[in-house]
Amino acid sequence: MYPWLQNTYQQVTNSFLQGHGHHALLFKTDVGLGTDTLIEKVAEWLLCTEKPSNDPCSQCKSCQLTQSKNHPDFHILEPIEGKDIGVDQVRELIVSLQNFAQQGGNTVVYIRGVDRLTEASSNALLKTLEEPRENVYFLLEAPLQSSVLATIQSRSQTWVLYVPQAAEVMQWLQTEFPTTSTSELETALRICRSRPLICKTFLENDRLQQRKTFLQTFWRFYKSRDVVLLFQAFDKEKEDILQQLEWLESFFNDALKAKMNITQGWINPDLQNGIIPFSQQLTAHGLLQGQQILHQTQRDLTEINAVNPELMLLDCLTKLVLVFE
Ligand SMILES: [Zn+2]
Repeated sequence: MYPWLQNTYQQVTNSFLQGHGHHALLFKTDVGLGTDTLIEKVAEWLLCTEKPSNDPCSQCKSCQLTQSKNHPDFHILEPIEGKDIGVDQVRELIVSLQNFAQQGGNTVVYIRGVDRLTEASSNALLKTLEEPRENVYFLLEAPLQSSVLATIQSRSQTWVLYVPQAAEVMQWLQTEFPTTSTSELETALRICRSRPLICKTFLENDRLQQRKTFLQTFWRFYKSRDVVLLFQAFDKEKEDILQQLEWLESFFNDALKAKMNITQGWINPDLQNGIIPFSQQLTAHGLLQGQQILHQTQRDLTEINAVNPELMLLDCLTKLVLVFE
């Protein structure tokens, strides 16, 4: 398990070992922490019939079934193909919970994305959460920023997982990428806002270099006002587009800082040779407007699902050009 999850894991298992474990645990988590691995380990431990300590024994029949991803008393409920968790999925789960545990021990239900339960699904689930059968445990996962229905939250014990301290993530990155230079790791850490697994993917996919090339294209776009030029530099996948918009936003943020002579807290100090002249050529108002356009586009892309991302991007870039005038 990842080092930043260890502490929560110990606390959760301790609460059971000390006799005040809760039947429904709600994990609210920042992104990029690998919290699913924590929840899966808690599940494995709850299912283990020996529980010699805070760790599952990994020897008993239950542990072996969990390891082969074949435990009949472990149920996962999650959105299918990006859709909300439907009431039929919940009903099916409740029916299977009416049978006694096949292995004679605990039953564990892992709900990934509690925020994705529809109102009908939540209502169907509530009764089971309110009057749980003995030895049935619910592990609920939701993004930190999402709103979980108060009725569900009040019946659960909440555990919150925040992004770890930068120093801790840095230490982990150094062991994962022993040949990468410290300054490159620090840049990745800042760009990915210390979210460890996002940093890891970023470094593995050579996004550091891609970001540099992309921002150089932005600079040429700024000089030429050529919307198509920058548009073509965007990737195709929504996740990648969001990250590229975030790069641009951080570029504008740093330029605003430069404008106000703030030297602390820059995301892209390695690009200051571009950022400082850029900040001198725009007004503070223009920089702020640009930053807001980029921020709004990211929100729209995230929140409005059934929309054509290419059109939104074109609209965003066209607005940016106006800021340069
Ligand atoms: Zn075991």
